[in-house]
Amino acid sequence: MSMVLLEEPIKEPVMVKNYINGEFVESESEEQLDVINPATQKVIGKVPISLPDELNAAVDAALDAFEEWRKTPPLARARYMFRLKALLEEHFEESARIGVMEHGKTIDEFRGEVRRGIENVEVAAGIPSLMMGYNLQDIAVGIDEMVVREPIGVFAIIAPFNFPYMIPFWFWPYAVATGNCVIIKPSSEVPLSQYKVAQLVDEVGFPPGVINFVNGNRRVVKAMLENPNISGYCFVGSTRVGKEVIYVGAAKQGKKAICQCSAKNYLVVMEDCDIERTTSSIMTSFFGNAGQRCLAGGNLAIVTKDDAFYRKVVNTVVEKAKRIVVGYGLDTEVTMGPIRSVDKKERIVGYIEKGIEEGAKLILDGRKPKIKGDYPETCFLGPTIFEDVTPDMVIAKEEIFGPVMPIIRFESLDEAIEAINTKTPYGNAATIYTSNGKYARQFVYEVKCGNIGINIGIVAPMAFFPFGGMKDSFFGDRHGQGRDAIEFFTERKVVITRWW
Ligand code: NAD
Repeated sequence: MSMVLLEEPIKEPVMVKNYINGEFVESESEEQLDVINPATQKVIGKVPISLPDELNAAVDAALDAFEEWRKTPPLARARYMFRLKALLEEHFEESARIGVMEHGKTIDEFRGEVRRGIENVEVAAGIPSLMMGYNLQDIAVGIDEMVVREPIGVFAIIAPFNFPYMIPFWFWPYAVATGNCVIIKPSSEVPLSQYKVAQLVDEVGFPPGVINFVNGNRRVVKAMLENPNISGYCFVGSTRVGKEVIYVGAAKQGKKAICQCSAKNYLVVMEDCDIERTTSSIMTSFFGNAGQRCLAGGNLAIVTKDDAFYRKVVNTVVEKAKRIVVGYGLDTEVTMGPIRSVDKKERIVGYIEKGIEEGAKLILDGRKPKIKGDYPETCFLGPTIFEDVTPDMVIAKEEIFGPVMPIIRFESLDEAIEAINTKTPYGNAATIYTSNGKYARQFVYEVKCGNIGINIGIVAPMAFFPFGGMKDSFFGDRHGQGRDAIEFFTERKVVITRWW
């Protein structure tokens, strides 16, 4: 196989700085982490674990900026978004390649991520329309009532490792366009994508303090939770942190929070599906992004009493999985990149061992993958498939967050829906593959998940729709993106008027 390696945009390790009050500033923290390219194992950057005082300085700057920024007309705020959109487009390919280098996914996957990020800026640029309130004349004779939307203050955005570019965009363009100021904390594992965004934000020339980036880990998050001048939190990451640390921490202070958390998504295959298209969709759902996606397939449920149908689906899936090319995401022939880090890989391998121990049948073992190109095997895993899984097994209940497909056979759709609703605590996404509208309707109606797919394997809502999530996959009221984000970042003020 030929090698079609794209040029790496990072030549020397990037020393990540914070962006506070319109300036790039070096952290005074002595604690720094290496950013390691998971495919090559080379150090491509260093990121500080910022000090609480540095976070507090960013919050002070944001609070100072807020008074003027909220008075800036929405139309003028939208124009900043147009300028940003143009710059993000100009740096599209470079950003995608930086992302591949720090995260590991393939270049096409990262291009998709960048596109999805930019779409949120496009939607937020419509803020003069989106932010309108509503009114009614003559609620009583001569009295009018209206609702106006006002920005609230300073918001904190805490991002996970798996979509280093896109996820902060689910929130901050809406926060800023509605007149708030923000502090963004990227995942300390993958800070380089957001560092690039920070440089473009700086180039746009937003007023100092409106958008700040503070790098670090839980220490910065703790300082965020302790700072009384932050009005709300947007978190995406694990349920462990999102529920106990962020949601509880915010609630204790009477603050608002959006916490989008972990997942275990069922993909349900019915006998009347289109097998060819269904199995291709299943492939991208389970193995795209090396399974490190909150919308990734978590269990493959095949609903049938027909052994031949069952075998055909399983065999097709295994055949397609064997054709996946594992390697460095900047090689354009590679279709699955590495796991983000060695500890994450070990965690996934632990689940594979657990599956074997629980009695599931390992029919494709990715633990010793064939890697295209000459790269250390440190972070690589191949697609892994288990058969004879039951909904009560650990591998069927917990989020593995890697390229592992547990296959469960059910006799009826009712049984599959029951497993989805009761056997995992999560409710992020679920998909049914069918050509039968009755099954599809039952699925939409009965499944307790926030994102439902009908013949769609990755139920990723567009920027102008909210990103759903239920049960232990979501804590909060409003969701990220679209109108939900506008609601979250604004207060509704009621004004009742009588002139005499
Ligand atoms: P994580 O919870 O480990 O980290 C998320 C963020 O919280 C990071 O910025 C991290 O620095 C910070 N953090 C970690 N531990 C902390 C602690 N004890 N106190 C305070 N802050 C802490 O999550 P991750 O591993 O980066 O991301 C993967 C998880 O995110 C998966 O469970 C995945 O399903 C979930 N996810 C959910 C969605 C969604 O929309 N529902 C989207 C993407 C990822």
